[in-house]
Amino acid sequence: SLSHIDLYLGTGPARVHVLKDVSVAVRPGEAVGLVGASGSGKSTLLMVMAGLERADAGTVEVAGTRLTGLDEDALARFRGRHVGIVFQSFHLIPTMTALENVAVPLELAGRADAFARAARELEAVGLGARGSHYPAQLSGGEQQRVALARALAPEPQILLADEPTGNLDEATGRQIMDLIFAAQRARGMTLVIVTHDADLAARCGRVVRLRSGVVVPETAEVT
Ligand code: ATP
Ligand code: MG
Repeated sequence: SLSHIDLYLGTGPARVHVLKDVSVAVRPGEAVGLVGASGSGKSTLLMVMAGLERADAGTVEVAGTRLTGLDEDALARFRGRHVGIVFQSFHLIPTMTALENVAVPLELAGRADAFARAARELEAVGLGARGSHYPAQLSGGEQQRVALARALAPEPQILLADEPTGNLDEATGRQIMDLIFAAQRARGMTLVIVTHDADLAARCGRVVRLRSGVVVPETAEVT
């Protein structure tokens, strides 16, 4: 849950008031679609939820942890334990195989079963046979499935997705969303998805709309 978040980005005359008194409460296990025009602050809000961006004012509490005031090490530990993130551009490490992309973060987090667990997660997204391939040898949809397996592998309580289907064709995008919603149901995860896709937003239990850094009240929502 976020309450009364203000956030500025940039410095000097380029300083922009990106989030303005934003309060959002997401219940455990809920799926929320985060929508709004380009530049309205969706990605920034998601990064605040992930503990990757610090608010200038207000309080942020995610998965029972109050992020406000945590130092960088504590924030990194929080992310590793509780938050999975997928982006529009898959952000895989090009010099690592699919299996290594999923396993290495687990290994760094001290999991002894990193490679076995990673293999299971790749299997779960239908890529069990592609573990030895490098990202460049995989299609966009396959790369996003690897990215999803990597995000899910630490069993996060919350999955944050920033336009996860934005670089994919419609059918491939739907496959990714089916996998994301299936994982949410199976694991009882909380889901926050930034999207421009009205169909996808409609699949979320609730929609939060940003306009110029301000949350549009739900009563103004016509659905
Ligand atoms: P899109 O749909 O295009 O991805 P968005 O809703 O995700 O847009 P954000 O990326 O959160 O928007 O950006 C919100 C605002 O913050 C924009 O006006 C952007 O120009 C501004 N912004 C982002 N990063 C910086 C920065 N480093 N310095 C100054 N302004 C920034
Ligand atoms: Mg964005």
